[in-house]
Amino acid sequence: MQKTIDTDEVSRKLRSDGLDLERKRILVTNFLNTDQEKDLKVPPNCEGLGRIRHFSCTTSAGWPPNPLPIEPACKALDTVPGKQLRAQVFQNAVCNWRCWYCYVPFVLLSAHRRHSQWVTAAELLDLHLGQANPPQVIDLTGGQPDLTPEWVPWMLDEIRSRNLEKNIYVWSDDNLSTDFFWRYLSDSQMSRIVDARNYGRVCCFKGFDEESFSFNTRADGHFFSRQFKLFQRFLKLGIDVYAYVTLTSPTAEHISDRVVQFVDRLQQLHPNLPLRTIPLEVQVFTPVHPRLNEVNERALYNQEVAVEVWNRQIEERFSTSERNKTITEISLSTGIR
Ligand code: SF4
Repeated sequence: MQKTIDTDEVSRKLRSDGLDLERKRILVTNFLNTDQEKDLKVPPNCEGLGRIRHFSCTTSAGWPPNPLPIEPACKALDTVPGKQLRAQVFQNAVCNWRCWYCYVPFVLLSAHRRHSQWVTAAELLDLHLGQANPPQVIDLTGGQPDLTPEWVPWMLDEIRSRNLEKNIYVWSDDNLSTDFFWRYLSDSQMSRIVDARNYGRVCCFKGFDEESFSFNTRADGHFFSRQFKLFQRFLKLGIDVYAYVTLTSPTAEHISDRVVQFVDRLQQLHPNLPLRTIPLEVQVFTPVHPRLNEVNERALYNQEVAVEVWNRQIEERFSTSERNKTITEISLSTGIR
């Protein structure tokens, strides 16, 4: 059996490895000559520090369409959403968990100096704007961007200082593992994030119960509940927040009840939250092949069972008109701010 990750300790270490607070620099992955480069449809850009991603609403049969970040970005940029969206992706070089299905090679999650580079938000924005036809969306991903939560306000501030906030939308993701956002950002930085019209965040639930969560991430099962607590804090702040869930589980026993309970827990945070939550189908990219064993193969199958339960729950709990709304029309207002 694999050793459980000491999430808090690893997070502290990787934060210090991935952040240069004094010079406002983030350790960002350089994709050149990495295994991840082999999976890219378009070669890396921005001197190896970036990649272009084409987000698509289309998913496999049986899986709900994925409008993220297409609809939030297009709403903010005042453009009509299409089925696809080009985004400029930058990836920080640290993550505290080790999801077996992660499409990032683990070496790129450990602050490996041969595959990463220190850069400021200004330098990243210069690289982005220096390319021909830069996308209007910048995706700050990981890794786990929120080990270095300063990255988002630094980028938003840089965009604002160049009067580009109507032209560039920033999207970031978060594995809901630490409270670093509140611990390390100033009130003023948090307010600027909350107030930014050109920013959206997606938080990922890494399973639908403690067993699936722990199996997926290698973190202790009690961090599954922490995911809900952290999400609730973002809700209360009023950030434009969305969620993903991965439905891979090593067992299918009582899977229906377990997914139902997960949807219940989402609704305890906000009755509408399931409509802002997109189940992500786990697919096998190049770095995942060597990590696969019989249990993972079973988990890939079990996610198909789980998503059927999810789909039924959405149908039973929400009216057709609610389900037909765009994801940005789904209110998560708490009235608390
Ligand atoms: S949290 Fe995200 S980046 Fe980290 S290992 Fe899991 S999928 Fe990969």
